[in-house]
Amino acid sequence: QGAPIFGRLVVIGLGLIGGSFAKGLREKGLFAEVVGVDRDHESCRIAVETGVVDRCESDLAVACHGADVIQLAVPILAMEKLLAELAILDLGDAVLTDVGSAKGNVVRAARRVFDGMPARFVPGHPIAGSEKSGVEAANASLFRRHKVILTPVGNTDPSALQCVDQLWRALGADVEHMDVEHHDEVLAATSHLPHLLAFGLVDSLAKRSENLDIFRYAAGGFRDFTRIAGSDPVMWHDIFLANRDAVLRILDAFRDDLDALRGAVDAGDGHELLGVFTRARFAREHFS
Ligand code: NAD
Repeated sequence: QGAPIFGRLVVIGLGLIGGSFAKGLREKGLFAEVVGVDRDHESCRIAVETGVVDRCESDLAVACHGADVIQLAVPILAMEKLLAELAILDLGDAVLTDVGSAKGNVVRAARRVFDGMPARFVPGHPIAGSEKSGVEAANASLFRRHKVILTPVGNTDPSALQCVDQLWRALGADVEHMDVEHHDEVLAATSHLPHLLAFGLVDSLAKRSENLDIFRYAAGGFRDFTRIAGSDPVMWHDIFLANRDAVLRILDAFRDDLDALRGAVDAGDGHELLGVFTRARFAREHFS
């Protein structure tokens, strides 16, 4: 651990993601101080006690004045109000970044409240998490060997982008840059749709479980497929409200494919079923 190269990091929202980001960078010693802001006093107390941050600050303006980097790690639907609070502060040259799981809505919110996207705001999304939440689950190595997607826009300041890139790399993440729209399409397909299917399937079966006694006989396949239905309902409700359009596009495409599968089962079309399952197995075996 060398001498700090930055002054102050402010992390707003000391949950699983914000807490892990703060703790990891505090351990790396890149900042002279790591300051937390959370509206929940208990989270602040635990964050200080467990070494996630050096200290907490209840006044957002005081925390952010003179900061080098400000990380927004609050729930997605809380981002716009927080951005509006930041927009009336003097942020100097601070680099702003966030970790929201959908990016278009955060960028649109920033454009609305700042009257145009601030050049030193670098939207980001770590593809890492767990079914746990809250500061108690903060883990300094959560992002190691995980992808982090940064979604700069046309006017993003290259030095701000480089700074955020450097911080995630310091945490061991594999950083990629992507268009905002592309990010939201890709995540709708690879993360949001599977969560919708898992929540939907478990709920649908649970409603029928009295008659069929389904869960008593649930085997490994069911457990594997539905593990993610144990995720935080509030966070996922935020994500579907935030990434509505991209989710609807992939959901409609998937519904067509599901209808085709239903048709094949109905028609006893074994050739069609075998074709789908064989292609799927090949694709599953070849993704890394
Ligand atoms: P979390 O529930 O663990 O933590 C959120 C924290 O924000 C809580 O401590 C809460 O008290 C605080 N908070 C809420 N509103 C606030 C406000 N206005 N000001 C200050 N603090 C406030 O949530 P998390 O899982 O860490 O998720 C945070 C963000 O990270 C979300 O935007 C989410 O989309 C994103 N994200 C989550 C995951 C994941 O798997 N959990 C993965 C990638 C990205």
